[in-house]
Amino acid sequence: MRIEVENDKIRARKKQEYEDLVAQKDKEGLEVRLEKISILAANIIAIAIMAVVALISYPLFVAVHGSDSLNIDRVFGFSGPTGFFFFLALYAASIFIHEFIHGFCWHFPCEKKWGSIDFGFNPKNITPYCHCCEALNVSQYFWGSIAPTLILGVLPIIIGIASGILFLVTFGVIGVVGGAGDLMVIWTLRKHRNCLLFDHPYEVGYAYFVPKTGGDE
Ligand SMILES: [Zn+2]
Repeated sequence: MRIEVENDKIRARKKQEYEDLVAQKDKEGLEVRLEKISILAANIIAIAIMAVVALISYPLFVAVHGSDSLNIDRVFGFSGPTGFFFFLALYAASIFIHEFIHGFCWHFPCEKKWGSIDFGFNPKNITPYCHCCEALNVSQYFWGSIAPTLILGVLPIIIGIASGILFLVTFGVIGVVGGAGDLMVIWTLRKHRNCLLFDHPYEVGYAYFVPKTGGDE
């Protein structure tokens, strides 16, 4: 496992690792193609997902716990600024936990286990990231991609609705939104079911390998 703040040297190393893999797969008779995700589309989808998830979760909460339960003071756990800042701190922590969950899930199928998982922080866009240095099959990539959204999004919503803790619902709704980019990636996986996938080192998305002679699938 590597934990690092991204810089030019690290970017060059990741690019080299990627090119080495492409060269190695080329010898095995596979060629590389890219599946890129548009950041603009990801942001638009994130807003749409937030609206849909919120419009399902809060009415469901009210249906289970009654209309008195939707108290604005409890949306963030505590009332007033304390609640807001408590929530902000929790959310900041959850961004790092989100990346950790990706790495945790992806380390299992990797040959070098944690040795192939990089955690980093990209100062350019102020975001932490998790990068898997080994190619994975679609189901391995799928579970590692969706796990943070399930654990930090869907699960808190279900627990929040079941237990009547409103702020867990808010936390979950934001957790699902945090996974919007991952959900977009997952949506593209259906096109490459039999391919090996590799987390792209500098594009948003992934590289996939297809036999040189045949087409995709
Ligand atoms: Zn993610």
